[in-house]
Amino acid sequence: MASGLSLPENALREIFRCFRCGYCRSACPTFAIKGSESWNARGRLILARELIEGHVEPDKTILDRIFSCNSCGACEVVCPAVVRVVDALTALKSALVASGVKPPEPIVKIHEAILRHGNPFGRGQYQEGPKEGKGEVLLFPGCVALELEPGLIRAIEAILEAAEVPYSILEGPCCGSPLHNMGFKGDAERLAERLASKIRSSSAEHVITPCPMCLLALRPYLGQRVEHTTTFMRKLMDEGRLVLKRKVGLKATYHDPCVLGRQLGIYEAPRELIWQSGLELLEMPRSRANSACCGYGYLNFMAYPELAREMAKRRILEALEVGVDVLITACPSCLHALSEAAREVARALAVSDVSEVIAELAT
Ligand code: SF4
Ligand code: SF4
Repeated sequence: MASGLSLPENALREIFRCFRCGYCRSACPTFAIKGSESWNARGRLILARELIEGHVEPDKTILDRIFSCNSCGACEVVCPAVVRVVDALTALKSALVASGVKPPEPIVKIHEAILRHGNPFGRGQYQEGPKEGKGEVLLFPGCVALELEPGLIRAIEAILEAAEVPYSILEGPCCGSPLHNMGFKGDAERLAERLASKIRSSSAEHVITPCPMCLLALRPYLGQRVEHTTTFMRKLMDEGRLVLKRKVGLKATYHDPCVLGRQLGIYEAPRELIWQSGLELLEMPRSRANSACCGYGYLNFMAYPELAREMAKRRILEALEVGVDVLITACPSCLHALSEAAREVARALAVSDVSEVIAELAT
């Protein structure tokens, strides 16, 4: 029996290439919490196959298993067959949406908010032009930083001012990245293209963003002209433009954001900034490519809040086991997730974005 779902050949190949060894159980954060196979990469790929072959209907239970995959990519690192699980499940979500299946309700609301308001929080239009005059740098903070972590934007501004870098800020619209993960590929690409053409019309030499998901969305359109704040800050230090006035003598660990690490391969720049700050860096057992998802990426915390909160709490407990004073990350979503979780389970543990640490020491 066929379902009528239309997936690209390469996605089908990945789905059918899974040989069901179950190694992904050791890495999938949703499986770690739910403890049942349908919340694991393997279970999701089995469901994908059943959906494609028309053996099951996309009811709420099945859709939750598929759409709760947060594209963290941890399963791909441990998979002996190197199955591209994220691409396969993203293609399945797109095929479901294209066939007229309605995703889970919170995802429908996020989709509507982004299309209507240019941001997922549905609080009216963001300012769409650069906020200030011409600059060497255009800072694109991204929706999560603007809405939930404005202190991070102030920290980046303080760094740019300390390094005497002229800059302007572009507050929107949304880069579309979360929509890609949620199965709205066409809308995601249209939004990224629209944002990229707005940016192209600016005279800024560099575009920087603290958000790995925005960077991932913009890279295909802007190439190396757009970069992450951590690599940009490291360059400023190498050029002697950004100088730290003091050092801090505490113990820290670093949480690699899934997208910044596994997808963009940026592992060293944030660590080098931490070393420069004087902090003693102690690694968690799960770091770099094996980092554990904080649960909040691609706005998954708005669609599956309980699951996301539990993931963040577990990550905080891992940081505590290392015995550090501060947990540092480099992504507004991770910063928000881990700060909220620390308030709940470990008030003594400070949580900061690496930009906040550098801003504190550079000004
Ligand atoms: S580790 Fe890879 S091959 Fe094995 S079950 Fe998971 S996705 Fe399939
Ligand atoms: S991408 Fe992450 S959440 Fe999705 S199946 Fe793989 S490990 Fe699980």
